[in-house]
Amino acid sequence: MATGKRLFGLVQLRGLNLVPKPPARISAFKDFHRARVASLYSVGLIKRFRECVGETLKVLLHEMSWTEAKEYFAKNDIVILPVGSTEQHGPQNPLGTDFMIAKAIAEETAKRTRVLCLPAVPFGVSSHHKQFWGTIFISPRAFKEYVREACLSLSYYGIRKIVIVNGHGGNLSVLTELARELRGEGVFMSVFQWWPAAAKLLPDLFMPEERRHAGAEETSMNLVLHTSLVNVSKAVDTEPRKHALQFEGITLPLGTVDETGTGVFGKSTSASVEKGEKVFQSVVSELVKHVTLLENMKIEDLGQKPKV
Ligand SMILES: [Zn+2]
Repeated sequence: MATGKRLFGLVQLRGLNLVPKPPARISAFKDFHRARVASLYSVGLIKRFRECVGETLKVLLHEMSWTEAKEYFAKNDIVILPVGSTEQHGPQNPLGTDFMIAKAIAEETAKRTRVLCLPAVPFGVSSHHKQFWGTIFISPRAFKEYVREACLSLSYYGIRKIVIVNGHGGNLSVLTELARELRGEGVFMSVFQWWPAAAKLLPDLFMPEERRHAGAEETSMNLVLHTSLVNVSKAVDTEPRKHALQFEGITLPLGTVDETGTGVFGKSTSASVEKGEKVFQSVVSELVKHVTLLENMKIEDLGQKPKV
């Protein structure tokens, strides 16, 4: 009896080990198995869909593998590069305003045109804002060389047309100079800025005092694109101070702090999501037209003209 009992006990033990009796364990296993099958199934579906469309669906360089990038560069000679700055934008807006808006416009344009978009350059020429905490200021020389070398990397892979989406006015003179130099080296660079485009496309949407740095227009764009990062209760209206030496035709080496103590130039409290949405859609449509036309032009027709 004693032996029998022991044997019975062993069988029971072995049985317990082999059969996952507790219901929780069984259902957990079933759930895991179901999820695994579902994920394998969806991976298969995505793969088959990609085979059907015959191309990668990605338009952001940093999301691609090098083999996917090779595929794009082998067939295309155009990319979009967003650049901006990390600088004060009043008490209500995030420091990343300029590069984040440029990034959003560039990425939306990339989705609509299927032209590859690069990661945004987050720092720019911003020393005029340095008295406001958190502003990162890069010299014009360093900024120009950094962007140049990014462009030359692209040129190495066969890119000949680069559309810069610039979110910060302080970068423009450097980018214009660089674009002229690169044209001489066989790379055609155009520079798009959303706020002068919006002023032309939607002239009645904002008053001139709402269209300046960190004003209602820029704050409206943030309200649409980065809603949770805007503190509307901190928005202010600040009439810029006029320097005693400021006369018609005079340019002075002033910083932002000479003109405003809040970092806002003009009126920002009238910002609205509706207006921001109109600006975003309007400027993206305009940029899509430019990118589409440029994509279809031959680089031979875009080079520097010979001496007359
Ligand atoms: Zn800005």
